[in-house]
Amino acid sequence: MSLPSHVKYVVIGAGIHGLSTAYHLAAGLKAAGRGSGEDILIVDKSAIASGASGIACGVIRNNYFQPAMRELMAHSVAVWESDPKTYSYHPVGYMQISPEAMHADVAEIYEQQQAIGYESSFIEGAADCMTYMKGLFDDWQAQGITSVLHEKRGGYANNTAAMYGLASKAEAEGVRIVSGLEVKGFTYGSNSGAVTGVETDRGIIGTDYVVVGVGPWVKEIWDFLDLPNEVSIKGNDGRMHDGIPMWTYWSLQEGTLGVDPNMHRTNDGDLPPVIHVDTDAPLHSDVDGSLITDQMWGIYYKPDFNFGGVQGGAMPFKVEAEADDVAVDPYGPDSPDFVVDDSFIHMWCSALAHCQKRFEGKTPVYKNEPSGGIGAFTPDSFPVFDIFRENVYVIADSNHGFKMIGVGQLVADDILGRPSAMLEPFRFSRYAEGRLHPVSHSPFPWS
Ligand SMILES: Cc1cc2nc3c(=O)[nH]c(=O)nc-3n(C[C@H](O)[C@H](O)[C@H](O)COP(=O)(O)OP(=O)(O)OC[C@H]3O[C@@H](n4cnc5c(N)ncnc54)[C@H](O)[C@@H]3O)c2cc1C
Repeated sequence: MSLPSHVKYVVIGAGIHGLSTAYHLAAGLKAAGRGSGEDILIVDKSAIASGASGIACGVIRNNYFQPAMRELMAHSVAVWESDPKTYSYHPVGYMQISPEAMHADVAEIYEQQQAIGYESSFIEGAADCMTYMKGLFDDWQAQGITSVLHEKRGGYANNTAAMYGLASKAEAEGVRIVSGLEVKGFTYGSNSGAVTGVETDRGIIGTDYVVVGVGPWVKEIWDFLDLPNEVSIKGNDGRMHDGIPMWTYWSLQEGTLGVDPNMHRTNDGDLPPVIHVDTDAPLHSDVDGSLITDQMWGIYYKPDFNFGGVQGGAMPFKVEAEADDVAVDPYGPDSPDFVVDDSFIHMWCSALAHCQKRFEGKTPVYKNEPSGGIGAFTPDSFPVFDIFRENVYVIADSNHGFKMIGVGQLVADDILGRPSAMLEPFRFSRYAEGRLHPVSHSPFPWS
């Protein structure tokens, strides 16, 4: 396809956010009689689903300690539910299984879910939790669990199938998607800081509006836009904390046990909810009985026919290098730096066995192929959704985002002049104004 010299909206990135925004923007333009999908061009330096959205575990949940995140997730779950077939969405539910140190946090989440009408059950106390879990899986054996939050909605979606489903919806609205076209910079007007064109490796595309949905590559585009690499944050102590790096990378640890996915079903033979366990019970090796950790740890897992086994992950680790020195490319399983190693395999397989007897002795069938990938995190590890330089909408989800299919709808509404209160807690100004999200006791930076 030859490149247009001008298009009203350029969307950078064909992952969940770029595709979802383009689709909803196209539908919104048409409904308002203000244009159509033909006004929108998605450009991707690689291809649809070639970024984080194409390797994500695909878990969709509401369970967040931060009220603003829960509201956003409830909205997104409704979008997944609106077209489960096209989105390849499996509404099996989700369970947050926790130790006493997280009991109060999760109780608060449950109460808020009741308040916003998000269906869930909450089980408290070690004995009742064990009974509940054994009612689902008769081989359940994790000790030290004192609360179980069972979300009846949510579950997971097949990563690339969901992206192709979303792309087909966008294209049906007239949106064009160009693969293999890399954005290298921007041109600006002489009288304002607004972007007038997108510089690509095949020339400049003039535009009125840019949407940035580039996932782990956000720092590069952020730099092209001359946005600050350090921020000042007003802390809960009321003091300003200067010089905080804008971007930090974390390495996501995920993998697949090469078993028949059908071996992980409930006692009733149903597909189980996604299981997420956090615990402070000592974790011992399922290989030789040695102590792996006596600190808080967490894992998640689900049977997944797409990955061909029981797939899941464990806590990510922070990439200690300066953001400028982190190589995002080659990305995901192709990265020489950020794929899981033997210590993840040992820990995750042992943790599965810690939770359910059916996984004992299964470490040898772990699928030993490259997996995992990095995410770009903001200073508080929560998303930034905001407009910069007057006409550039940056969707920086801080790696929360496969589940956030609804954000594109809210962003499209915002662009069309219908701002949503759900996006307000994620504005960039929150750092300077000290409007920070509460922090939980979870071992994950995204809960
Ligand atoms: C291993 C792993 C597991 C995860 N699991 C989950 C999960 O279970 N649930 C969940 O909710 N989230 C999960 N996440 C997070 C989630 O995947 C991301 O937050 C989300 O996919 C980001 O979507 P995106 O559209 O912003 O970016 P991406 O999906 O990364 O897409 C960005 C696109 O931009 C393109 N691009 C980049 N730079 C340029 C440029 N200069 N010019 C043109 N194109 C460019 C890339 O080629 C890419 O296709 C996981 C992340 C990882 C790494």
